[in-house]
Amino acid sequence: MSQSKCIKISDDDKGYPLEMFCIPKHYENHLSHVMIPKGLIDDRTEKLAKDIKEKLSDEPLVCLCVLKGGYKFFADLVDHLKSMNNVQNDPIPLKVDFIRLRSYVDDKSTGDVEVIGGDALHHLEGKNVLIVEDIVDTGKTMQYLLRKLQVHNPKSINVVSLLVKRTPLSVGYKPDFAGFEIPNHFVIGYALDYNEYFRDLQHVCVINEAGKLKYAS
Ligand code: 5GP
Repeated sequence: MSQSKCIKISDDDKGYPLEMFCIPKHYENHLSHVMIPKGLIDDRTEKLAKDIKEKLSDEPLVCLCVLKGGYKFFADLVDHLKSMNNVQNDPIPLKVDFIRLRSYVDDKSTGDVEVIGGDALHHLEGKNVLIVEDIVDTGKTMQYLLRKLQVHNPKSINVVSLLVKRTPLSVGYKPDFAGFEIPNHFVIGYALDYNEYFRDLQHVCVINEAGKLKYAS
């Protein structure tokens, strides 16, 4: 599957110093740096919404949020799609659906993906589905979800992921739309977590060793 162009953050990128941004006090000592500030995420998300609108027809679309890490990106992306609908002559009727998956403990993939909640997938039969994900790392989670969805015969499936990690463990899967390609670091913030911590951090940041130790499972 070919991925559309995205912003590539290089391996030697140092990001932004923490003191240049508002960081909650309880996380100050547990981060290495800010990788992607919230403002940049917002602007990139607006363009992704435009690209999605241009590629997909104006047929009704079900936006499927992969919880929990995808909730911020999902909410912001759907807001941009809604804003475009308000001013354009060919709006896409939108529905939202949710699925909750789990595959990570600490900063390691368990290798087993589980559906641990969400809406029944059989409602997606015959629908155009846009899967909205926070991050594609090895790609195993998305391959698993795509297999699960295909059983229910949707009319089409597209995937948008805010982040795609460069990792030697990649199975080669690429989403249809991606915000940023990032180095092989464990990132948190903007709803991405480390054992449920850091979802309340605005920016996408890199966790440091002290943070991994403090919030280990
Ligand atoms: P994959 O199956 O592609 O290896 O992993 C996808 C899932 O793992 C993501 O949906 C996310 O939940 C989790 N994940 C992978 N890399 C990261 C990361 O750097 N930070 C966080 N918070 N989660 C990650």
